[in-house]
Amino acid sequence: MKCYMCAREGKETDAVAICIVCGMGLCMDHAIREEMPLWEGGYPFPAKKGAKTLPRIVCGDCYAAMHEEGGK
Ligand SMILES: [Zn+2]
Ligand SMILES: [Zn+2]
Repeated sequence: MKCYMCAREGKETDAVAICIVCGMGLCMDHAIREEMPLWEGGYPFPAKKGAKTLPRIVCGDCYAAMHEEGGK
């Protein structure tokens, strides 16, 4: 699979990851590894013992979309 974002720019780069949101292939440059808390929702507690984060790979577009919705 090739990186979709590179393909849009006319380049061919092998994908090393896949966006979990939209499923596009991503190269190292375009994959964003994000640690997402398992607890969502805005509890005022800091992460406690036992709270884990899941590393997930997303593309730039989905990353931007998630962060628009979430905060700000
Ligand atoms: Zn790329
Ligand atoms: Zn995506």
